Amino acid sequence: KKITIAIDGYSSTGKSTVAKQLADWLEYVYVDTGAMYRAVTLYAMQKGFISEEIFDKDKLIASLSEIKLEFRKPNAFSKAEIFLNNENVEKQIRTLQVSEYVSPIATIPEVRRKLVEQQQRMGEGKGVVMDGRDIGTVVFPNAELKIFMNASAEKRATRRFHELLERGDEVAYKDVLENVLERDHIDSTREDSPLRKADDAIEIDNSEMNLEDQFHIILQLAKD
Ligand code: C5P
Repeated sequence: KKITIAIDGYSSTGKSTVAKQLADWLEYVYVDTGAMYRAVTLYAMQKGFISEEIFDKDKLIASLSEIKLEFRKPNAFSKAEIFLNNENVEKQIRTLQVSEYVSPIATIPEVRRKLVEQQQRMGEGKGVVMDGRDIGTVVFPNAELKIFMNASAEKRATRRFHELLERGDEVAYKDVLENVLERDHIDSTREDSPLRKADDAIEIDNSEMNLEDQFHIILQLAKD
């Protein structure tokens, strides 16, 4: 039987890497919901709705119907990439600048409503692995398997730092750590924050785990 697997947790815990592997293995649909919030953020940046000086929520809310998000696979074997109004923005949404603006954008209820509806349509009635912050609590509260991932902030910043370096971004570790801590703070202290562990989620701290261990633990849980 095909099930719904919700993988939630803090930023840079490696959720998406393990979620993608599971989806490939199980031949399920994989949805990276963080990419959707990032793409909306990129749109807001491009339109000048958010910058160092400006945060114009109302303009963004008024333009939400202009935003079309899709995942497309370049070929059968590679990961789906996100398209914002028919443009591939998979690379552009991973910059540190998008990471800085995404949490405030993600607290706008109208943004969340739009993305949650789309996520529910994408996962409905299929085998799906979806990763994010609110998948087990809001998007699929009835998911058969819910995982909540965590790891130390330093471990997560180190992973993120290496990812950014690999992409050729010139960043300082200290700025990456600062961003991780800041996003944690926004994501975990605000009342309207999306990040909550569902009561029936299984918590995994992967600070000292490699990818293979995590993959096998979650796969076993999915089979039970
Ligand atoms: O997963 P990722 O780090 O790419 O997500 C980027 C940001 O998008 C998170 O820091 C969070 O603010 C927001 N997000 C969210 N709800 C989700 C997924 C991501 O609010 N389901």
